[in-house]
Amino acid sequence: MEIALIIIFGLLGAAIGSFLNVCIDRLPAGKSVINPPSSCDACHNRLSWIDLFPVFSYLFLRGHCRFCRAKIPQRILWVELGTGILFAFLYRKYGLEPKLAVNLFYSCILIVLAVIDLEHGLILNKIVYPMAIIALIIGACIPEPGLKNFLTTIEGGAIGFAILFLPAILSKGMGWGDVKMAGLIGLMTGFPNVFVSVFGGIILGGLVACTLILFKKKTRKDTIPFGPYLAIATMGALIWGNPIITWYLHLFSISR
Ligand SMILES: [Zn+2]
Repeated sequence: MEIALIIIFGLLGAAIGSFLNVCIDRLPAGKSVINPPSSCDACHNRLSWIDLFPVFSYLFLRGHCRFCRAKIPQRILWVELGTGILFAFLYRKYGLEPKLAVNLFYSCILIVLAVIDLEHGLILNKIVYPMAIIALIIGACIPEPGLKNFLTTIEGGAIGFAILFLPAILSKGMGWGDVKMAGLIGLMTGFPNVFVSVFGGIILGGLVACTLILFKKKTRKDTIPFGPYLAIATMGALIWGNPIITWYLHLFSISR
């Protein structure tokens, strides 16, 4: 029974990942995510349900359009697969609890924000603003006793925004989109887990930037999108934030 539910959540995640791909394709261009139905970018043939079956249709068609053989971006597969694995993992972690629904929802937002930033270097206000309101409502209506409530939600948002505010003023590398996204993920994770997501993102992004510079893939003048690292660290903070904070505080109480 348990394994069946894990598989169902995996398939549900892959199907939702397919919708996230539509959002990633259309939101930056200002298009509707509902209309028109999906079609091939090259030949404009409308895709049927068999082309839209997540993961398997990509593999079955070997990443090409069934009509004109145009290449389908590999990202379609990775987002479907990634969302599916994440959904299965989150169900395994939380079971059928309110926190599962909240984290499934947040993981979808983070995937869309991260991939759009990766592909376009943009954090879209039309995602961040409405999601900030929804995160506030979630903070007020679905508290985690002893861990997260409306107050810690607001504190998280303010702290996330404040941590990146100064770097954004002082440097050209960090954009206002990153600052707003940090505010949003602060609302998602709340205080004190916001520190895990924002500093985790900074450390992760820094490590990747250093590696790219070391291997001469980028120079110090290039900018790398920061959103994906914030998103990955936020996913970590949502799942393991409390043990990480406890471990960190413990570290200092022993050394004293
Ligand atoms: Zn085609």
